Amino acid sequence: MSVAPSLPEFGLFIDGQYTPATSGEFFEVINPAMGMPCARVAKAGPEDVNRAVESARRAFDSGVWSRATPEERAKVLIRFSQKIMEHAQELAFLEIIASGATVRRVAGADLLQIVDLLQQTAKFALEYKYVETLPVQPFPGPSHNQVWREPVGVCAAITAWNFPLILAMWKLAPALAMGNSIVMKPASSTPLSTLKLAELAAEAGVPAGVFNVVTGPGSSVGETLVTHPMVDKIAFTGSTDVGRRIMQLAATGVKRVTLELGGKSPAIVLPDANLELAIPGILFGVFLHSGQVCECGTRVIVHEAIYDEVVERLADMASRIKLGNPLDETVGMGPVISQSQLETILGYVESGRQEGARLVCGGQRARGGPLDMGYFVEPTIFADVDNRMKIAQEEIFGPVLSVIRAKSTEEAVAIANDTIYGLAAGIWTGDLNTAYRLARDLKAGTIWINDWHMFRSDAPFGGYKQSGFGREIGKYALDEYTQLKHVHASLVHEVSNRPWYTILFP
Ligand code: NDP
Repeated sequence: MSVAPSLPEFGLFIDGQYTPATSGEFFEVINPAMGMPCARVAKAGPEDVNRAVESARRAFDSGVWSRATPEERAKVLIRFSQKIMEHAQELAFLEIIASGATVRRVAGADLLQIVDLLQQTAKFALEYKYVETLPVQPFPGPSHNQVWREPVGVCAAITAWNFPLILAMWKLAPALAMGNSIVMKPASSTPLSTLKLAELAAEAGVPAGVFNVVTGPGSSVGETLVTHPMVDKIAFTGSTDVGRRIMQLAATGVKRVTLELGGKSPAIVLPDANLELAIPGILFGVFLHSGQVCECGTRVIVHEAIYDEVVERLADMASRIKLGNPLDETVGMGPVISQSQLETILGYVESGRQEGARLVCGGQRARGGPLDMGYFVEPTIFADVDNRMKIAQEEIFGPVLSVIRAKSTEEAVAIANDTIYGLAAGIWTGDLNTAYRLARDLKAGTIWINDWHMFRSDAPFGGYKQSGFGREIGKYALDEYTQLKHVHASLVHEVSNRPWYTILFP
C-alpha cells in the first residue's frame, strides 16, 4: 500500500511568527504546471486580519521601527537582501510551483531584481530628505519653518499572482525603508514566497509586527484589511475592477491609496526598425510569463510598409517557443495560472475569431505529454486586428498578441492611445529623434524604445489613465510611504509685533 506524501503547510505570519488561522482552516495552492495541489495555507478570517493589523499598529506606535534612524533601518534592509540571497533556491522553488514562472526567469531576473531593489532602496533611504528647512520670511513675522516627512503608519499591501516576489518587494522595500508597518495579503494562488519573505525579514531583524502576512480570499480577507480602521494606507496591485472597488472602500475611512492596475500596452513598429531585434523583442514583450504581465506589449501596431513581413516573422518565431514544466531550464514558457484563466484566454481567442481577426499562430490549449496535466496555452497571434475589437481593448492576461495595421506614424500613435489603459508603450525604430517624439505623445507611465520589460531599481513604475496612480520602485516610491508635516516655530516674542492677533482683538 502506498501513502500519498502530505502537502507542506504554511501558517499566517503575524507578530514575527507563523501562526494558525483562528478557525484552523486551510486552503490548497495548485501547481499550474501539474494541475494538482502543492501546499496547504492557513485561511485567515476577520479575527486574524484584526490580530495582524493590531500587531502592526502596536509595532508602529512603539517606535521600534518607525522611530529607528535611517541608518538602522538601512542596515536591516541590507541584511534582508542577504537573507534572500542565502535562501534564493527555496524562494525560487516556492515562486515557481505556485505561479508557473519559469526557472530561467525567476533565477535570472526576479531574485536579482528584488535583492537589488532592497539594496538600492536602503541607499535612497539614507539620502532621503526627511527634513526641509524653509527660508525665513520677514512677514507676517520671522519664524523657523520646517517640512518633515513622516511614515504613514500601518500599510495594507494587496498583491496579484503573476509576480508574487517582485510585487511584494515593490511595496515592502519603500514601506519598510520609511518606517511603516505592513500587513500584506498575497494572491490566494501564490502566497508561498511572500510568507517565506516575512520569515526572512524577521530573521534579518525587522521587528515583530512590522511585517505581517495574512492569506485568504480577497473578497473577505482583502476587504476586511482595506476597511480596517487602524489601516492608514492601501497599496494594491491587481485588476482594474478590484482597484475601483478598493478605492470605493477606502473612501469611507479617507485612506491613502496607490493602485497598479491592468494594461493593454501598445508597441509601434516603424518601417526603419531593425527587425532582427524587433521580432524577438516584440515576442519577449508579449509572451514573457505566458502573457500574464500587466505591462505586456499585447497590441503591436505595425506600419503598413512592413506589415506582412512582420506578421510572418512573428508567427514563425513564436511557434518555436518551448512550452513545458517551468522547473525545466530549457523551457521558455510555462503554464497560465489556473483552469479558469485558461478558459478566459480561450474565450478571448474565440471572440477574436468571431470578430474577424486572422489567427496566424497558436489559438489552442497546448497539449502533449506533460503539458496535458497543466494549464498551457499556445503562443497565439492574431493579424488584421481592428483596435475596436474586444481582443484589442480588454486585458486578456494570457499569451495572445494582436497585430494592428497603421497607415502612418500619426495613425499608429492615435491607435496606441485609444485605450482606457496607460501602463507602458513602446517604439521600434532606427531613428531616436522619432522615438523621443513619439515617447512624448504616448500616454503611458513607461516608454520602452527598442526594448521591453526593462525595469531599474532607480526608475519609477506606474500607470496613466485607468492603469492606476502612484509610483512604485526607486526614490519616487519613498514619497508614497510618507506624509508631510509642516512645523512652524514663531520667533516673534512681543504681542505688539503680532498684528494678526488684532483680527480677533481689535
Ligand atoms: P485581482 O484584482 O482579482 O486580485 C489581486 C489581489 O486582490 C489578490 O490578492 C486578490 O485576492 C485581491 N482581491 C480580490 N478581490 C478583492 C477585494 N474585493 N478586496 C480586496 N482585495 C481583493 O487580480 P488578479 O489576481 O486576477 O491579477 C490579474 C490582474 O492584475 C490583471 O488584470 C493585471 O493586469 C493586474 N496586474 C497589474 C499589475 C500592475 O502592476 N499594474 C501587476 C500585476 C497584475 P485573491 O487572490 O484571494 O482573490
